[in-house]
Amino acid sequence: MSVSKNINNITLDIKKYSPHPEKVNLISVTKYVDTTIIKEALEGGAYLLGENKVQVLTKKYDELIDFDLKHKWHFIGNLQKNKVKYIASFIDTIHSVNKLSLAVEINKRAQDHKRKIDVLIEINLFEEDNKEGYVYTDFLNDIPSLLELKNINIKGFMTMAPYNYNEDLIRGGFKKLRELKDELNILYFNNTLTELSMGMSNDYKIALEEGATFIRVGSKIFE
Ligand SMILES: *Cc1c(COP(=O)(O)O)cnc(C)c1O
Repeated sequence: MSVSKNINNITLDIKKYSPHPEKVNLISVTKYVDTTIIKEALEGGAYLLGENKVQVLTKKYDELIDFDLKHKWHFIGNLQKNKVKYIASFIDTIHSVNKLSLAVEINKRAQDHKRKIDVLIEINLFEEDNKEGYVYTDFLNDIPSLLELKNINIKGFMTMAPYNYNEDLIRGGFKKLRELKDELNILYFNNTLTELSMGMSNDYKIALEEGATFIRVGSKIFE
């Protein structure tokens, strides 16, 4: 099947499974393919592209910079502080803020470029099996400091469900993330948290039903 057909099918699933399809954006995760194939995705209607490695991302960014003027890059992987500087001039959204020191660095690099960077806080909801996100209680403690960082916009949360979890556990995690967003919007964020980045190829339908606004899909588009 072709890349554009796959994108089309996922777009139909968004309409079918989401309670608010107009708020949902598909991120095409391009880590499996090179720019020749990414161009097919752009021609097929994708415009948000996701990568999880800085070096690969900067290379693809350069290669596609003149190809399609409306695409945007999202960073979705584990981000090392010393690499933020390589993406700070152009990255649209960073989905994986998992500690205060990383947020401070993103804020500083955004300031260097006189811009604001949208970020999502990655929450570790599946603690035993996923060591990458913020531990929730640490995040709560850090909220006052995070709110002082004026060159990042905290737009919401991201989470990743382990591959070996069953549907109930996955759904439970996604539902929990939505509830946290709703609670924290009232307590600290004055309804500025609008995004939930959850769902990949094998679980995006569940994520859509539970209120995802970004789904990050790779293999279902490119394999
Ligand atoms: C690879 C990756 C995805 C996409 O995974 P698929 O199962 O191929 O759809 C989504 N999010 C993150 C953080 C990833 O690293």
